[in-house]
Amino acid sequence: MHEQESTDALSERDFEFSMSQSFDIAIVGLGAIGSAAAYQLARRHKSVVAFDSYSPPHSMGSTHGESRVIREAYFEHPLYVPLVQRAYQSWHELEAQSSENLLVQTGGILLGPPDGTLISGTRLSADRHGLNYEMLQAREVHKRYPVLNPGPDTVGLFERRAGVLLPEKCVEAHLRLAAEAGAEFHFDEPVESWSVDGDGVEVKSANGTCRAELLILSPGAWLGGLLPDLTLPLTIERQVLHWVQPEKEPERFDADNLVFFAWEYREGALFYVIPDLGTGVKIALHHQGEITDLDRIERDIADEEVKEMETLIDTFVPEMRGTMARALVCMYTNTPDEHFLIDRHPAHDQVLIVSPCSGHGFKFASVVGEIVADLAIDGESKFDLSPFAIGRLIDSKEGE
Ligand SMILES: Cc1cc2nc3c(=O)[nH]c(=O)nc-3n(C[C@H](O)[C@H](O)[C@H](O)COP(=O)(O)OP(=O)(O)OC[C@H]3O[C@@H](n4cnc5c(N)ncnc54)[C@H](O)[C@@H]3O)c2cc1C
Repeated sequence: MHEQESTDALSERDFEFSMSQSFDIAIVGLGAIGSAAAYQLARRHKSVVAFDSYSPPHSMGSTHGESRVIREAYFEHPLYVPLVQRAYQSWHELEAQSSENLLVQTGGILLGPPDGTLISGTRLSADRHGLNYEMLQAREVHKRYPVLNPGPDTVGLFERRAGVLLPEKCVEAHLRLAAEAGAEFHFDEPVESWSVDGDGVEVKSANGTCRAELLILSPGAWLGGLLPDLTLPLTIERQVLHWVQPEKEPERFDADNLVFFAWEYREGALFYVIPDLGTGVKIALHHQGEITDLDRIERDIADEEVKEMETLIDTFVPEMRGTMARALVCMYTNTPDEHFLIDRHPAHDQVLIVSPCSGHGFKFASVVGEIVADLAIDGESKFDLSPFAIGRLIDSKEGE
């Protein structure tokens, strides 16, 4: 099981289980989180079998679109800062192990009213954890980045460490290294159900059944279907990513010349722009998407959605006007408090639930993979996982 493989490690195997097959760990879902968990567990000599309904990285879930922001001064809550600090290290370790460039340190600037969610939340995290940042008045923002011209009521917070991860390449790197360490992958093979089997679990996929000591559920937006008894209060939010080809001097939007920026343009409403890393400038809203479900999510993008984005560009970043080159749909899976869910199943210790990420989880995938391995092997994590406990979701639901 742990022998190095000489064949293409990522190729799908023609493999059917017999009931006798047993693994230390079974993983359902090989997106951002599952691929990281597979890597961490396989390198720590666990026998891993892992499934995905598609061939990851793919564009049906929540981990596509070529870029994901990583920020240290975390406006969402200071509790994420130690996690993201470790995540930076483990992404760099992954870069070294895979000989791939996965993180582009563009720097980042957050724009908004000084007392808004974005600026005040970021300052709170940064001050609590002693992080470096610079506060800039609107005219200083414009001087530094001439394509940005915020009004006088807007301030900028510059964070040098902010950057952009390349999600498909990260997933590929985790999967390749996990396979090289012995993990067994079953792509295009959905898991249909799982059940408790003594101290372990039995996992039934489209092609067969196997047994594992521990089951890791990391199916992203599909979690609800694999936990029908818990009926967790999760929502799936449709998000559209747009790529723009600026008309005038597009090189001003290259990652060499511009930072990532996010803008609180209305109270609590954010959009963000990721500079051109080779496939165009990306712009998207953060949240504000339609609440939908997996059966009826609209994968096509309406003309009005493109127009809405053009209006946003015209109003806030007119220098970016240009061709709306393409757009893609992605999904956020939200908890009511927008914190993660990382916990054991309330009734079954041998099932770990590691999802969903409420639209801000990619940057943490590398450290969450380590946390999963620590929980699986040592039974505990060095991080405080209490904010991510499942009890809050079940209790809050019962309290409704
Ligand atoms: C538009 C958009 C922008 C984002 N921007 C950022 C950002 O800038 N920074 C950031 O940190 N985060 C960001 N996020 C959030 C982040 O990308 C997600 O939280 C993260 O990628 C989710 O990873 P996941 O592994 O939980 O889900 P996924 O990557 O979707 O993986 C779940 C996998 O499970 C598989 N699966 C599901 N059910 C089954 C089954 N029954 N059997 C087998 N396989 C199954 C699916 O096929 C899928 O591959 C963004 C998300 C979106 C949608």
